Amino acid sequence: MENDNELRELIRKAALLNAVSHDGKAQAGAMVGKVLGEKQELRSRVKELSGVINAVVNEVNSLSLAEQKAIVEKNWPETQKKEKVEEKRLSPLPNADKYAQIVTRFSPNPDCVLHLGSARAILLSHEYARICNGKFILRFEDTDPKIKRPSLKFYDSVRQDLKWLGCKVDEEYIQSDRLPIYYEYTEKLIAGGNAYVCECAPEEFREQTLAKQPCPCREVPAAEQLERWHRMLGGGYTEGQAVVRVKTDLENPNPAVRDWPALRIIDTKKYPHPRVGSKYIVWPLYNLAAGLDDHLMGITHIIRGKEHYTNMVRQKYMYDYLGWTYPEAIHYGRLKITGAFLSKSKIIQGVKEGAYTGYDDPRLGTFAALRKRGITPEAIKKMIIDVGTKSNDVTLSWENLFSYNRKILDASSERYFFVPQHVELRVLQVPKTVQTKLPLHPENPERGFREYTIAPEDEGGVVSFWISKKDTEPLEPEKMVRLMELFNVKVESKTDSAVTAKFVSESYEDVRKIKVQLIQWIPKGAEFPSQVVMPDASVTEGFAESDCKKLKPDAIIQFERFGFVRIDEVNQKLIAYYAHK
Ligand SMILES: [Zn+2]
Repeated sequence: MENDNELRELIRKAALLNAVSHDGKAQAGAMVGKVLGEKQELRSRVKELSGVINAVVNEVNSLSLAEQKAIVEKNWPETQKKEKVEEKRLSPLPNADKYAQIVTRFSPNPDCVLHLGSARAILLSHEYARICNGKFILRFEDTDPKIKRPSLKFYDSVRQDLKWLGCKVDEEYIQSDRLPIYYEYTEKLIAGGNAYVCECAPEEFREQTLAKQPCPCREVPAAEQLERWHRMLGGGYTEGQAVVRVKTDLENPNPAVRDWPALRIIDTKKYPHPRVGSKYIVWPLYNLAAGLDDHLMGITHIIRGKEHYTNMVRQKYMYDYLGWTYPEAIHYGRLKITGAFLSKSKIIQGVKEGAYTGYDDPRLGTFAALRKRGITPEAIKKMIIDVGTKSNDVTLSWENLFSYNRKILDASSERYFFVPQHVELRVLQVPKTVQTKLPLHPENPERGFREYTIAPEDEGGVVSFWISKKDTEPLEPEKMVRLMELFNVKVESKTDSAVTAKFVSESYEDVRKIKVQLIQWIPKGAEFPSQVVMPDASVTEGFAESDCKKLKPDAIIQFERFGFVRIDEVNQKLIAYYAHK
């Protein structure tokens, strides 16, 4: 090639442009095609070319996205059309104009903390209420004191999670306060011959229903049904002896719809409800309580997973009996997050048994855990809105969420150095005192700097630093390294606990063209002992730079070349939680 430098520059430009449009990671594969497209004469030298490309791509990828952007913006501003703000919009709600006010709801059972699996129901329901100038209702569905037993602490954690997600609740209801209302409508349904008290054993009932046959109770006249109903309320039956059923078409193709159970008895002496104790023994099941409430609370649009489709079919019978119109229902597909741990029962059990440190254990997909790790609610919201209300299943990965989060944090987070598993680096022959100013944010110098004075100790010009053990691994005598934003050194010797190197020069330009490793450093004496709790709950010990002492809990920063972290505690030690690269 007539000019290898020119070629290298061409590749470097292509790699930087590729990196900034791919979340900071240039793809070597994409480069080859690009370069060959522009320089056809290189086709015979593909092998050699890919070596150069790999080296350049590695160099480019060792920079942070913000640094890459800064270089591109400086050298090739014409390539960076101002990114069009392409906000994804939600598709309009069906029949929105039919209603004076749009009302949506989110209705969790407070039997566990919320996790990412609820994000879609919460954020879509809330977002629609906001864009339609409507109302967003939070309804606690806590009517199972036995199996899916609610717990007082979770009512509060749900409220806290919604607040964190930026969802303003306009009205809040708790179903365990509303039992008299459910009783009133049940009585109406029974009196109208549209519901009945079934005394059959469950297996008998199942057999009859599968055969599309009515059970004997179904034919009992309403007056006697009402007596049975009052007997239920008065404690005349024990658990399992009677259940109220809503009549449906016995020919309905789905046996699970036929004469669905609406209320049952729970021995609240044995299983007291955390809010109302043993005040009630007749408890509504999901379809009765949710179905009545959706109408009574004026819900116009129900936005929920398609696993609820059959519930709509069930509830529509009840709506017909009461002369009501069923709300608009949008059933979206399942949103799977690969690798996210979202089983409620396993979360509760794991916390109870101590397998997790709490509901905010970094291994969990709970909002509390995401919050602790520095995943922003904005990132979750953006991801959910982008997916929208599609009815097909969508599978996302943690990396998808991180990518949304990275874009937000990259623009906002302050940068600091962190040296995991510190090893001493002695640099000899540093010719003078160096005042270094490291920007808190590479694109926004106005945000300030961390300033360190690197002063040689004695005649020999010795300066001691901490660097990370991992960064020492590829080092060997004669190898050049650049201490990020400081100076270039050449390694002289290395042991397990220390590296000695010699000062070479200050300018980055001197080493940019050879594939030189950039490493972060902390001057000896400016170290702040730190712990980073990793996503697998392991702890990485190391030194952060002393400027981190002024950070406040909840700040999210980037430890350069290590990852984004959320500061949890700043005391004798800094404790942080790792978000992602
Ligand atoms: Zn029966």
